[in-house]
Amino acid sequence: MSQAPEYQLWIEGGYRPGRQGQYFDALNPANGEVIGRVAQADEEDVDAAVAAAVRGQKVWGAMSGVARGRILMKTATLLREHRDELARLETLDGGKPIAETPEADVDSAADCLEYFAGQASSLQGEYQSVDGGFFYTRPEPLGVCAGIGAWNYPIQIAAWKSAPALAAGNSMVFKPAELTPLSALRLAELFRDAGLPDGVFNVVQGFAETGQAMTAHPDVAKVSLTGEVGTGKAVMKASADSLKAVTLELGGKSPLIVWDDADLDNAVSGAMMGNFYTQGQICTNGTRVFVHESVRDAFVEKLLERTGKLRVGDPMDPSTDVGPMVSKGHHDHVMSFIEKGRSEGGKVLIGGESVSVPGFENGGFVAPTVFDSLNDDMTIVREEIFGPVLSLLTFRDEDEVVSRANSTPFGLAAGVFTRDLNRGHRMAAGLDAGIVWLNEYNLTPIEMPFGGIKQSGIGKENSRRAFEHYTRLKTVYVAEGDVDAPY
Ligand code: NDP
Repeated sequence: MSQAPEYQLWIEGGYRPGRQGQYFDALNPANGEVIGRVAQADEEDVDAAVAAAVRGQKVWGAMSGVARGRILMKTATLLREHRDELARLETLDGGKPIAETPEADVDSAADCLEYFAGQASSLQGEYQSVDGGFFYTRPEPLGVCAGIGAWNYPIQIAAWKSAPALAAGNSMVFKPAELTPLSALRLAELFRDAGLPDGVFNVVQGFAETGQAMTAHPDVAKVSLTGEVGTGKAVMKASADSLKAVTLELGGKSPLIVWDDADLDNAVSGAMMGNFYTQGQICTNGTRVFVHESVRDAFVEKLLERTGKLRVGDPMDPSTDVGPMVSKGHHDHVMSFIEKGRSEGGKVLIGGESVSVPGFENGGFVAPTVFDSLNDDMTIVREEIFGPVLSLLTFRDEDEVVSRANSTPFGLAAGVFTRDLNRGHRMAAGLDAGIVWLNEYNLTPIEMPFGGIKQSGIGKENSRRAFEHYTRLKTVYVAEGDVDAPY
């Protein structure tokens, strides 16, 4: 019998066991140890969470935006006060280096709560005078929203979904990915400590079936998912029966384009951040690195020199750059892509292997990998790997590189490194991507709309645009004269 702590579901402001008494294990990806036993929600538990959210939303939606904002702001303050503890929890549960989690995970979640705390009181409608009177519009909450998260940025995703939803007066039932179930529960506790009314934020745990119970639920008005393209399609289909609104943040295979006039040190920094940060487990990663043929050798020299210095190891060690993959299964999945890359004729310039870290033999570590000698049709150039695998490609001219960059069903992000501003803007216009970074990569300030196009998603998170996806617009016409009836 495992001695690991038990984590229950969070429903109506407190912990509750699952009705079936089923548990699954939360593992530390660095060593495979069980760090918790997590209650699994069945359909009835999801029903209970949704019913609690319906009750909670009535209270919450009736409060003023200022009052809601105050509670979100207090939650952000509590997140910052618990920064170290939360960062350690994310590292323990997801294997992300402790060098990353305080800023990339906890601060990012707190920034989001602060931003939407400030926006909560400024949801505005419009007024317009028309023939016979005027109309105004009311942005109203949708009701109960379901949030379903991926495992790569657990607390950030929970905040990116809950903060705008709650700011707009909705309640939420949130399901973290089953591989990283813990931090959403801490967020729920901090919401409660900040004074959030019971039932406004609920956490159910489980696998795809739990997510399916959420998407099928008649009292859920909206589903926001972060996950794979296939899951996005399943969620959209399931939501169609009750015409729920969906926001889908899905996968990608984004291009990062380095011109001959680029600052190569910055471009290499961008390529490394966009391929190796969080072990490469980032949806927006620029995994297809197109380098102008005239600077290819210089770029590769710098890239390999710096990549060779990355330290793979214990994610709790502050000097570690690259921790374990989120699970042994995902490690094997990434390694199978590396093998495929080799067997299709790609050449590994660095990495390309599983790394054994002393004391962490049960963790699945993958060396940061750069592939060369590729063409656009190879599997590793076309498919999302979600690991530290960079595909190096070269190009000659602008039309060619834009067309090759766009030749994918994905459309999440893109990066262009160039000193030629006109070219940068022209390419930003031509690239099929929801986000384009010019001379940067992977920065996602909360003020900036975030989301993909094509098969990378629907809708935007962050920024005031997020409110469009968490409100319904009611139009109210007001007559100023008599009714002009022809009968
Ligand atoms: P998955 O699609 O496997 O899972 C995402 C979530 O959906 C999990 O909570 C999962 O539960 C749940 N789920 C699975 N099937 C269903 C279903 N049929 N109905 C409802 N919910 C379901 O993604 P991963 O967790 O593996 O995350 C990696 C993927 O997420 C990558 O493709 C990545 O690109 C994408 N991603 C996109 C981002 C973006 O903003 N665009 C950001 C981060 C990641 P369970 O975990 O139990 O399977």
